[in-house]
Amino acid sequence: MTELFTDTVLNMMTTTAEPEDYTGEDGLLYCGKCRTAKEAYFPKETAAWLGHDKHPTECDCQREKRLECESAEERRRHLDTVMELKRRGFTDLTMQE
Ligand SMILES: [Zn+2]
Repeated sequence: MTELFTDTVLNMMTTTAEPEDYTGEDGLLYCGKCRTAKEAYFPKETAAWLGHDKHPTECDCQREKRLECESAEERRRHLDTVMELKRRGFTDLTMQE
């Protein structure tokens, strides 16, 4: 592994703590808003292999936010498809004439 790669991986493993976040009794970082863990422990073997025992995970409010974004994106994509089909249908009609 190159040093840069290791740095990148380690950066990915580091959870950015918000001011309201706190460390729970289990040593994991908790979200100050929804009070669910923002970190999770790797299985023992993985932790030994990586030399790192925790990885970031989504807390409840982050997950909610992501799902919201995804469904908005889904709706937009659906509209695009409908428009595209309409447009194509229209082109077919003009070609038939
Ligand atoms: Zn949260």
